[in-house]
Order: sequence, then structure tokens, then C-alpha cells
Amino acid sequence: MLTRYLTLAALMTVASLPARADLVVLQYHHISDRTPASTSTQVNLFRAQLDRIRKLGLEVVPLESGTEAALAGRLEEQQQVAITFDDAYESVWTTAAPILDEYGYPYTIFVNTQAVGSQGHMSWQQLEEAADQSHVTIANHSHDHGHLPRKPGESRNDWHQRVTTSLDHAQSLLDERLNVDNPLFAYPYGEYDTGLEQLLDERDWYGYGQQSGAIGPTSDPSRLPRFPMATAYGQLDSLNDKLRSRSLPVDAAQLPDGIVADNPPRLTLRLPDQLKPEALTCFASGRGRLPLEHQGQAVMVQAAGAFNSRRFRYNCTYPAGEGRFYWLSQQWVDLVQPED
Ligand SMILES: [Zn+2]
Repeated sequence: MLTRYLTLAALMTVASLPARADLVVLQYHHISDRTPASTSTQVNLFRAQLDRIRKLGLEVVPLESGTEAALAGRLEEQQQVAITFDDAYESVWTTAAPILDEYGYPYTIFVNTQAVGSQGHMSWQQLEEAADQSHVTIANHSHDHGHLPRKPGESRNDWHQRVTTSLDHAQSLLDERLNVDNPLFAYPYGEYDTGLEQLLDERDWYGYGQQSGAIGPTSDPSRLPRFPMATAYGQLDSLNDKLRSRSLPVDAAQLPDGIVADNPPRLTLRLPDQLKPEALTCFASGRGRLPLEHQGQAVMVQAAGAFNSRRFRYNCTYPAGEGRFYWLSQQWVDLVQPED
């Protein structure tokens, strides 16, 4: 992990903007026309999305090596894409896997190990078959699929015990049952806080959320973005912008903890000198465009009124030339709101 930070520090000091391509990670659950709409991508849409990736000439790469290259700024011209599935639902294996094999695309399945073999989920035997294939990566999505940030009223010790058990038990089950030990973790519900990010850093794991955006040299290894691709979000008309997006060159490690303290939360971004604050556009979940204030290169964003949902986001974009956008999403979690 240390070398990653050194690389980032070195990149932040150069005058020119970082690499000209980045890694875009797509996040799926079910690929099915029959499962709940909020977590499902229709089969025809899934095929159309893969067609679009091919048509744009984008390279689909394994998640870990793609993330490493993007964080190190090694993607110079070739924009890359990685495909991920959370929860190891049955349709990943019965429907998505054969389609991905037709395209020859690698992919990653994030497994919440407690659910393996239960109704609607892949079995250990299916996971074994998957793990045996060199283009399939099996990774950790916790054991219990809990809400892992520290809960209001939960002691630090209780939280630490609960969360390390879930993280480490899943990792050792994957190792014992499938002989895999990948340094990749997807946060259940995309929820993280600083303490949880620190546990990932200690384990040298990459942490993937559900906030949108591309991974580039200024991304934070413990809060990496992915674009949710369920039918409502993965429509083709907005897909090109996502697939071709670039990481906004703002040091993501300097962004606030995603836990809401004041509601509505305030986000401050420090843009590099080459970017004009007035060209940044930010939106909030369900709120439309947000007013921006700036002082020099520091941009302040805050919605007008309090949010009443557990998770919401501020999404900011900036024209990157050639019809592409720099993209950054700040995830907020309001622990006062009920868990889902
Ligand atoms: Zn999940």
C-alpha cells in the first residue's frame, strides 16, 4: 500500500494532468428479467452494454491488474473496463457467465460467503468451477453482508470485533474452499467509513464502493468507484459517458469521511490549477444540480436542504475534452436512517 501512496504523491506534483485513460468498473448483481428491478440488469440490456464496450474498442481487463495500472497512472491511451458482480447470485453463473465467455471478457464475483448455497445464490460447487477458470476472479464481499460502518451507540471494540470477523472469516472461507486469496473487497451496500477503510488498508486490500466514477491516479485505494449497472442506471443513452469517463484529478484521500455529520453535508474539492472551478457541475441524488461556491481552486458544494435517505451522493463532472468527462462521486451514508 505504501508504494501506491508514494506513486500518488509523485503524480500529484507533476504539472501536467495524469494519464489520458482510466479504468471504469461496472457493478452488477442479477442478470435476469425475473429478479427485483433495483438490483437486476435485463439480459438484452446486458448484451447491449457488452456490445457497446466492444464497439468503443475498450479493453476489458481483470479487476486487480486494471486497478493497479490505473492507480499507478500506467493507462496512457487505452481506456479499460472491468466487470464485477456482487452477492454471487445464481444468474451470474447460469446467464451472465456464458454470455461473457462468448465475448471473451474476464470478470470478478464478489461473494458474501454466508449466503453461498442458499436460495437464489451460487453454490460452493459452482464457485469452484468459476474459480478454476483463469478469467474469473473470486473476491470478498464480507461473510454476513452486514452494514459495516460503526453503528450509532456501538462501542469501538464491538464494532471492531463484528467487522474483522466478517471480513476475515469470508477471506479464509474463500481460501479454504476455493484456494483463492485476492486483495479485493466490495463494501456491502457500498457503505464505508474511515475505520473500515483503515481495516482494508491494514490488509492491503482494494475497497470498491457503489459510487460512480472512473479509477485513476488520484483515486483512493480504499474507496474505489464503480458504476452501478442495474437496468435503471445502465441505459445505453448514458453508457458512453460512463465508459469513457476519467477520474477527476482531485486527491480522493482528501475527501471527507462518507458518514453524514451535518445534513445536508458540505463537500469541498480542491481542483488542480489547470481546471476552472466554474466549469465543474455537481448533482445530488434526487435533487438536481447543486449550487457551487469557490475560493481560488477550492470548490464548495452543498445541497439546499437535509436528505432523508440512508445513502445518497454528490456527483461532479468536468469536461475532459474529446466529449469525455472527468467524474467524481462522493458517497454519503446517514447512520441515523434505518438499515435496508
Ligand atoms: Zn451486496
